[in-house]
Amino acid sequence: MINPILRKAIAVYGVENQTIKAIEEMSELTKELSKALLGKADNDHIREEIADSEIMLEQLRSIYDTDNGNRIDFFKQAKIKRLDERVKETLKNHDKELVRLDEDEAI
Ligand SMILES: [Mg+2]
Repeated sequence: MINPILRKAIAVYGVENQTIKAIEEMSELTKELSKALLGKADNDHIREEIADSEIMLEQLRSIYDTDNGNRIDFFKQAKIKRLDERVKETLKNHDKELVRLDEDEAI
């Protein structure tokens, strides 16, 4: 169930404008993550851009959802399962230990 404020935003601004906004927000997150990889991390700005992106992804989910999220959740679960298999395979093949990121150590 989409947040009613986000549903109202789609109704007021329209699908095209909210799609453009989603692209912009995800681009801003991409830029912040790129800066972090270059050693110029601003973790609070990254958190802000994650929030912006999640807000826009929720709107995109609403726009593209035609079956109460079943199809999106199907893809999501399948991809998480595939990721789990790949992680297990990597651990098996390379004898890697799990990397644990404490909250403050995240980049
Ligand atoms: Mg932003």
